[in-house]
Amino acid sequence: MSQLTDLDIAGARDALAKGECSSEELTSAYLEAIDAAKALNAFITVLPGKAIEMAKESDARRKAGEVGALEGVPLAIKDLFCTEGVLTTAASHILDGFTPPYESTVTANLWGQGAVLLGKTNLDEFAMGSSNETSYYGPVRNPWTLDGADAGLVPGGSSGGSAAAVAANLCAGATGTDTGGSIRQPAALTGTVGMKPTYGRCSRWGTIAFASSLDQAGPMTRTVRDAAIMLGAMAGHDPKDSTSIDTPVPDYEAALEGGVKGLTIGVPDEYRIDGMPKEIEDLWQQGIEWLKAQGAEVKTVSLTRTKYALPTYYIVAPAEASSNLARYDGVRYGLRVPGDDITGMYENTRAEGFGAEVKRRILIGTYVLSAGYYDAYYLQAQKVRTLIAQDFAEAFSDVDLILTPTAPEPAFGIGTKTDDPLSMYLNDVFTVPASLAGLPGISVPSGMSASGLPLGLQLIGKAFDEETVLRGGYALEQAAGFTGKPSPWWRS
Ligand code: GLN
Repeated sequence: MSQLTDLDIAGARDALAKGECSSEELTSAYLEAIDAAKALNAFITVLPGKAIEMAKESDARRKAGEVGALEGVPLAIKDLFCTEGVLTTAASHILDGFTPPYESTVTANLWGQGAVLLGKTNLDEFAMGSSNETSYYGPVRNPWTLDGADAGLVPGGSSGGSAAAVAANLCAGATGTDTGGSIRQPAALTGTVGMKPTYGRCSRWGTIAFASSLDQAGPMTRTVRDAAIMLGAMAGHDPKDSTSIDTPVPDYEAALEGGVKGLTIGVPDEYRIDGMPKEIEDLWQQGIEWLKAQGAEVKTVSLTRTKYALPTYYIVAPAEASSNLARYDGVRYGLRVPGDDITGMYENTRAEGFGAEVKRRILIGTYVLSAGYYDAYYLQAQKVRTLIAQDFAEAFSDVDLILTPTAPEPAFGIGTKTDDPLSMYLNDVFTVPASLAGLPGISVPSGMSASGLPLGLQLIGKAFDEETVLRGGYALEQAAGFTGKPSPWWRS
């Protein structure tokens, strides 16, 4: 018998509209599923009381004829979005006990459309990571396994809790944030859809900052249609974020059925990196064939500065992080560790409150911004970033979308890369360039590895052309016909 938690966002919306279930019933079903999935460690905070209350309010609104785009749909929220009166941790010890007195714009938009908050999902500390292993609250386990038993695989990161929750049907959809790949890479590693919109499409207000010139919120869902529905509710201009763009939010769902006939898809040679597994290369080729078969024209494009993207990102992102994280000093938020004097208190709080990866980023960031090295590193990185954006601008004068793999490998084992930051950073090699250029990208589950794990393909689009990205993603999804689901070993 199919369960209520089998309903994705579009399915839940339709079932609620037809009166086949109430939001309260749907929400209870998800809360039970979350309760039985503690082994995944996908949530930092679960909010049963609040969720049921919000669901009842939604049911009452529906009765009164008020129906938002996500009316009654239960969602999980990455614990980087501030939620009013609800513990918000960024998965860091330094934010112990922090309950914001305000709501992030993105989550406020979701509640404004009737969505229900199930809980806050686990992530890498301050969204720094590609495996969800830097969380103070411990690693998230990927619902996917190698042989039906828990293989201890990472779900990707930093939005690993959201990705795992979507893959394991613990929510209808979830929010993520993507600074260098944190929505798209975990989506690829968990067989889910993850979309990073154009920088400026979703407000950053009330989202805990990592690297402000790169951070973007986006949807993590089971299907491309759900991504379109959710993005429409999240996006929009916000005067409280000066980098949020005042441009209309189109009807993304209406854009889905356009097909790829008549579109030109670019394939960048520079993404054929050394040591990429043959199965990733083959999947990419398969993706090209699928789009061609549906009437798209495929062209090789050149993104010559791609090889500088990772080193550039690992200067720009830590520089901004070191500045953003300066505010955590034991005075205003969360943890305070006493010291002999105020400097001692700052030092003790930061020493105890931040984990190793966050400290590494603060050290790198402070170094590249220091007077003696600013020109050599930070300024140089900013110039290279501009060149990377120019590469994309040139490519997009010729093509509508760019197709690449999302990640260079499937999910890997917990602990296998924690002592090797460079190999960890390499997981974002295909997602970071679009982040530096501020462009929208989607990861669509497209196939399986020989070891039985999901693999994703990425489509990158022109700035503010999420409609074409979604349209291409929908076509890819139809062709791939990926319907795999992990077997629920975690259910207690
Ligand atoms: N993995 C990358 C990093 O650690 C990207 C993280 C993100 O997008 N938030 O910086």
